[in-house]
Amino acid sequence: MNDALQVTLSGVSKSYPGDDGPTQVLAPTDLTIEGGEFVCVVGPSGCGKSTLLNILAGFLAPTEGTVRVGGHPITGPDPDRGVVFQQPNLYPWLSVRQNVEFGPKVRGVPRNQRTAEAERMLTLVGLDHLGARRPYELSGGQQQRAQIARVLVNDPRIILMDEPFGALDALTREKLQGELLTLWRDRKKTVLFVTHSIDEALLLGTRVLVMGTRPGRIIYDEPTTFKATLANPSFAALRADPDFRRLRDEVSAHIYAAHA
Ligand code: ADP
Repeated sequence: MNDALQVTLSGVSKSYPGDDGPTQVLAPTDLTIEGGEFVCVVGPSGCGKSTLLNILAGFLAPTEGTVRVGGHPITGPDPDRGVVFQQPNLYPWLSVRQNVEFGPKVRGVPRNQRTAEAERMLTLVGLDHLGARRPYELSGGQQQRAQIARVLVNDPRIILMDEPFGALDALTREKLQGELLTLWRDRKKTVLFVTHSIDEALLLGTRVLVMGTRPGRIIYDEPTTFKATLANPSFAALRADPDFRRLRDEVSAHIYAAHA
């Protein structure tokens, strides 16, 4: 197992060229995410949540500033930063098992080893019995599990998730949320998780960020300390906790203020 990694943004901004000059979609941002934190990002549409995540992933270069992972500036994507999007993007011509094995195969992991790792990941996400199927033979929730297995098989120390459960029904979402939390605890990952749902942010995160618009920026940054007082809380217990409700009201007030 690897140690969790710290992520640091120093003066990171993003602008896009436009007809009337560049438009800044992310204001210069400083942010430190400690190794092992589970940071959730909420905010109105268009406030730059995906931009921030894509910069951390290395898919987008910042206009200014530096992103460091484990103290080293990033220059592009890396298997140590696994990215899960809302829509599963499995290769339709490969079986589920082959999809999960794809990353290790590209990295040159020997066949026996990668088959064993893929099987372990499929078991972890409850898909070991469906490995021979093609993605189109799976439900939406199963496809999303397969995508998560495909990312986790690379054992990334940082997991970046962009509304990964947004398209799922409530029951499947809650099950996958629970599985993600178990995995984060057991394997000591650093997680950045973008969501529209305040409840989801507070239930999963150790820390919640709210972003505002014009330009996108972090306007609120608080730890979800209320959980520390509850031993092994279920989602139902957390939702019933008065401190959960208080924090939810506070976060939602900031999101509404960002809309105004
Ligand atoms: P969110 O994830 O919070 O909905 P995004 O990060 O997707 O927000 O987008 C932030 C802003 O950047 C939006 O106003 C969006 O229109 C703009 N934007 C995103 N990609 C581009 C692009 N390639 N060119 C110009 N503007 C973009």
